[in-house]
Amino acid sequence: MLLSGLEQLSGLPLELLRSHALDGALTAMTGTPGGTAGRWLMPSGGQGCRYSICAACLAEDGRPYWRSAWRLTVNTVCAVHMRLLIDTCRGCGRELILSGLRTASLKLCEHCGRALYDDPGPVRVRRIAKWRLVDPQDAPPRSIFSVRVVHSKLWWDGVRVLLNVLGRPRLAVKLQRAGLPRELIPVLACMARGPRLPFDRQSTAMRHQMLELVDWLTRDWPVRFISSMSAARITCGEYATAEIPVPYWLWSVCKEHLERKRYRTTLAEVSSAAALLSEAHCPVSKIAIKRLLGVTEGKALDALLPVMTRRLSDTEMLAVTSVLSADLESASTAREQRASLLRDACSIAAAAWLRISLKAASGLAVEDGLALLQEWRDAACIDGARGRLARTYLAWMELYLRGTRTRFERYDLPQRALFLSRFGVPTQGFGLASRFADLLRRSGVSEWQLGSRLLTAAPSEETLRVDHHARSSWSEDHLMQCKDAPLHRQR
Ligand SMILES: [Zn+2]
Ligand SMILES: [Zn+2]
Repeated sequence: MLLSGLEQLSGLPLELLRSHALDGALTAMTGTPGGTAGRWLMPSGGQGCRYSICAACLAEDGRPYWRSAWRLTVNTVCAVHMRLLIDTCRGCGRELILSGLRTASLKLCEHCGRALYDDPGPVRVRRIAKWRLVDPQDAPPRSIFSVRVVHSKLWWDGVRVLLNVLGRPRLAVKLQRAGLPRELIPVLACMARGPRLPFDRQSTAMRHQMLELVDWLTRDWPVRFISSMSAARITCGEYATAEIPVPYWLWSVCKEHLERKRYRTTLAEVSSAAALLSEAHCPVSKIAIKRLLGVTEGKALDALLPVMTRRLSDTEMLAVTSVLSADLESASTAREQRASLLRDACSIAAAAWLRISLKAASGLAVEDGLALLQEWRDAACIDGARGRLARTYLAWMELYLRGTRTRFERYDLPQRALFLSRFGVPTQGFGLASRFADLLRRSGVSEWQLGSRLLTAAPSEETLRVDHHARSSWSEDHLMQCKDAPLHRQR
């Protein structure tokens, strides 16, 4: 009554008063008294405040006044008369604006003068969810919403996200085929037809139906929502692109139930499969693991690959060195070719001995080469494959350092790098990987495609002990090896 009294005097203070009267509702819905970017408010285009009105309420008012809650776009039904609100004049079709310039009575359209209370308001609403009928600021969050939230804003944010996401014509089309109740079909058809309008700009009738859809989907939370979204094949990704952050109650359900990712084998599954295979003394290969798990993809397998990769044994490396030696002998006629081959042989020897990658070996300095010479001299007296390897490597490196490298050196371009190209610059390992893989293949090494990864991998004994703890124990061992590596000792 105070408001209507004020209205007699002037439009403007009344308008201000009314906007203040919304503070409670906007705080409840957005968390801030003034609201957020006009969210949940009928957009007026800056001409004042836009309202939906209840014709029946106006007809009964002794002194007519427009309720502040009528400015909220979620209010589509009059709680007293259970009729849809009107948002345009039936006479001229213009919006119902309350501006400071208004002179006409609040019972009349200020454009055409038609009596607003005359409107028959044909749409009677029989039943409406409680959360839609109670003034937002009066709503005790726990009792009224379908989910438990600590602040009603979280509920309204979720409603906002649902309206935003499901209002996408593409998704409305999907929902049309998801077997929703018949009374929701018209609104879905409307949204599917597009174009997409922000919720606040929709007509009262449309907003009413959209909220009905949200109400239906959120009842019996989250069972109905999950089954509907699944039937419509609407995924979590759609919610990730909503206009506002998705509140937890909604996001957790989307994340858990709507993520339609292809099934992926986990690292644990792969590890236990590998353990099973090795217990049964079967070769632990990627193919064997895939067959055991009955899968075709291998992301987790790839992640486990460093563990799975066996290391080239000394015996296998001996086979490689004999192929290399043969190559060196047959290349003796072409001097340049032989020099390059000898340099690459030394790079491979350094990488194999130090358990480093070919690229890392290519970056070694002359001092590293001299240190290696010393190590190989020491190891040359060892029996077995290790000693034989050391003797071969030693011979190559002596030859390289004494002859080839000096030949590649240029006085105007002094280099510290151990391995030089014939132009006197560091090789950077160009072509080395393919040469090594080719050597492995010709030496009859299985899994030769792994190339220099066979040099850097953990020892095979470690690979066989693959189990659930494989990763951590392996990385510790690996660290120990790195510490012990001769190269690291020198630095
Ligand atoms: Zn009413
Ligand atoms: Zn009018």
